[in-house]
Amino acid sequence: MRKIGFIGLGMMGLPMAHLLCEAGHELIVQDVNATAAERFAAAHPGARVAVAPADFGAAEVLITMLPNSAVVNEVLSSLVGILPQGAVVVDMSSSDPVQTRELAGKLAGAGIAMLDAPVSGGVTKAVDGSLAIMVGGAGSAVETVRPILATLGRVITHVGPIGAGHALKALNNYVSAAGLIATAEAIHAGVAFGLDPNTVVDVINASTGKNNTTENKAHQFMLSGTFNSGFSLALQAKDVGIAVSLGTALGQKMELGRKIEEITHDASAALGAGADHTELYRYVRPE
Ligand code: NAD
Repeated sequence: MRKIGFIGLGMMGLPMAHLLCEAGHELIVQDVNATAAERFAAAHPGARVAVAPADFGAAEVLITMLPNSAVVNEVLSSLVGILPQGAVVVDMSSSDPVQTRELAGKLAGAGIAMLDAPVSGGVTKAVDGSLAIMVGGAGSAVETVRPILATLGRVITHVGPIGAGHALKALNNYVSAAGLIATAEAIHAGVAFGLDPNTVVDVINASTGKNNTTENKAHQFMLSGTFNSGFSLALQAKDVGIAVSLGTALGQKMELGRKIEEITHDASAALGAGADHTELYRYVRPE
């Protein structure tokens, strides 16, 4: 059993930290939302809340599940000199790979190894521990934390050096956003033609247009009108932005990417901070 620091108890971090406690690990938790951390510790005998950075001084592994690179950088920079030599930091957030590489260099200078291990599968798979985890970093550090990651995910793929996981995650979410917007537009066009929206989704699911949105989001969160998948539109817009910036910096055209970035960014600004990403379904509907 390991001493694990866990920072970021939001939609994803909460069920992930829960599984780690269930597996018998000792957790030191923190969230800027103090109530979330206190509630978690109260419900888990193996967890306690970090009241000061020094409380992470005994963490062998530190997991972050935070909104973006800016927050990850701020949080981890404050722990340099506190985390013990030989600790492994695992950023499971969907962060910017370029910033991740820079941060890993800074941590390495303090004797701390860093991995990026973003996840795919959303809240449902975070709850049942079946996330897909894509890991970047040194093989020795990956093997050190593999048993911990195996508690959280079913498919764990070491995809390359530090930053590689974050790059692949952003690219995945770009493809996923493209599928979501195409699906939303297709349903609205089908309805305008007189088709039943449920039939549109069911037939696409039996055909070549099938994708994660048609299978796991269209009936569940869009046509039902619940729009509560647990993945915010703001986070999706961030991910598409990372993918487009990365591709552009590497000389790719990213023409579709730029359009999807514009749609997700504009939708997020129009629908507000609390909007779920499945609300793109109503955003792309003509007035
Ligand atoms: P969330 O907003 O629900 O959770 C983020 C948590 O971080 C919140 O509890 C917030 O209070 C906390 N936080 C923010 N700033 C902090 C700070 N300075 N110190 C400590 N805690 C701080 O987001 P989420 O949906 O859980 O996503 C977390 C990460 O996982 C993001 O990078 C996201 O892109 C990624 N992700 C989300 C999903 C999903 O379906 N929600 C799926 C895969 C990946």
